[in-house]
Amino acid sequence: MDKMKVCVLEGDGIGPEIVGQALKVLDTVCKARSISLETDHALIGGAAIDAVGEPLPQDTINRCKQADAVLLGAVGGPKWDDVPSHLRPEKGLLGIRKALGLFCNLRPAAIFPALKEASPLRPEIVEGGVDLVVVRELTGDVYFGEHTRTEQNGVTVGQDIMSYSVPEIERIAHKAFHLARKRHKRVTSVDKANVLETSRVWRETVSRIGDEYPDVKLNHMYVDNAAMQLVRNPGQFDVLVTGNLFGDILSDESSMISGSIGMLASASLGEGSMGLYEPIHGSAPDIAGQGLANPLATILSVAMMLRSSFGLNHEADLVEKAVSQALDEGRTADIQADGLPVLSTEQMGDLVAEKVKALLEA
Ligand code: NAD
Repeated sequence: MDKMKVCVLEGDGIGPEIVGQALKVLDTVCKARSISLETDHALIGGAAIDAVGEPLPQDTINRCKQADAVLLGAVGGPKWDDVPSHLRPEKGLLGIRKALGLFCNLRPAAIFPALKEASPLRPEIVEGGVDLVVVRELTGDVYFGEHTRTEQNGVTVGQDIMSYSVPEIERIAHKAFHLARKRHKRVTSVDKANVLETSRVWRETVSRIGDEYPDVKLNHMYVDNAAMQLVRNPGQFDVLVTGNLFGDILSDESSMISGSIGMLASASLGEGSMGLYEPIHGSAPDIAGQGLANPLATILSVAMMLRSSFGLNHEADLVEKAVSQALDEGRTADIQADGLPVLSTEQMGDLVAEKVKALLEA
């Protein structure tokens, strides 16, 4: 690879600060590998509302479509809390995923050895290490079925239709098995097949697709059991694949295992190599502009981008390793530890970039 084009959506609050550090790390990787990095900055969220009156201008969609990957900071803040709901900054997030055809959300939950104490789980539960990814389907399920409210014999009834088609399940299953091949070759498919027909179609389809990946071990788990196992023995999981509703809940639950919101990255992927990469946290308006934000979730999102959109698996591994090394030398305020200096957003970005450079040159 000799060229990389990334559309950058800084967004609001701490967005510009954290994205700046992530780009510093990406630039370090590109320079070391003689890749020409082209970045294009576009507006989203509150910043777009202020500039052009809507959270996702068509110009932003066009620019994202012309890029190989999108890096997003975060959107929202009190300034836009009272705008009409169709104009809220968060509409920009849903809109851009839809416009780019992104149907697969990846959320890794890993515990960096240096941050073991931050996990709300007991030390003996996370002792053996946790390194899992939740693969959540994003465009189907009960969220996108018909929503109705009717009056039946004087009683108000709400109804939401849950459905999944075989092709929708096939494409997310392929994503999960592909990912597992690059990891520890285990997929757990989560459903509620003892009750829901949607889940029985899900289970049959994932099993059939699983036959195409004989090198990957597949097991099925009911969602209630999965919710329990995530806090009982999270080390058993590698890739968890599930539908939109169960994935919404399980990905938040698994995020909590690491205990530090400033550390959690995510990716939204479509059919090709295009992906949108962002931290899972919000725009943190309470600390914006003060140099207090932890940029590591956004830097780890760049690692996901290197792996998923550009196939640079080794470089992605090194960025993660650099983050791990940096945590031993300094911390941002949200994860500060006795005996380690407290670093600003920029100092943390510099430290990781320096570590990445050294690892790439080693
Ligand atoms: P938040 O994630 O922005 O902040 C929650 C808490 O975590 C705050 O105390 C914040 O200071 C801290 N925090 C978050 N990220 C941090 C980081 N990188 N480093 C250090 N501390 C960090 O959630 P919130 O306060 O509920 O929401 C604030 C705004 O963000 C709202 O407008 C909300 O709608 C929006 N939001 C956006 C996204 C997104 O863009 N994907 C996600 C969640 C919330």
